[in-house]
Amino acid sequence: MTTKKILAALDFSKFSQEVVNFAADFARRYDASLTLLHVADEPNRVFPEGFVAIMPARTTELLNLLEMALADAKKEAIAAGATNVSTMLVKGVPFAEIAQIAQDKAYDTIIVGTHGRTGLMHALLGSVAEKVVRSAPCTVITVRDRAAAK
Ligand code: AMP
Repeated sequence: MTTKKILAALDFSKFSQEVVNFAADFARRYDASLTLLHVADEPNRVFPEGFVAIMPARTTELLNLLEMALADAKKEAIAAGATNVSTMLVKGVPFAEIAQIAQDKAYDTIIVGTHGRTGLMHALLGSVAEKVVRSAPCTVITVRDRAAAK
């Protein structure tokens, strides 16, 4: 297995920071490139912790905020030791986009957190990490949220 091209999926939940730190350290150790990816759910599918309805007119504003969050995550990754870091923002269904991008762009490793959504939303929508593990064309590393596992 080669580790040269890493795709880390961020949902910007509290735990994302851990995923960034792990992915950056991993990229540094393997001298690999690191792409930080966020998938913006389609407006009628976005239910982050409490059903926030996003009006179409606000979508551009939301995408700008997500780009800024990715830029911040990139700074964190560089501070944590990764040197070749890029960001990617796409729209779609998170697990499907993550797997498809890994396939299309020949990533050799995907890094996801095991914990993002909690409670009812997790029960309703299922685990993105689990679906990525099932559908990915390459190695998937899951970063465990130890605090949440207690
Ligand atoms: P979840 O299954 O929702 O708890 O999410 C687990 C992990 O899947 C997160 O830590 C992220 O790595 C990834 N993930 C979930 N939603 C997204 C998203 N919209 N964009 C990118 N990655 C995501």
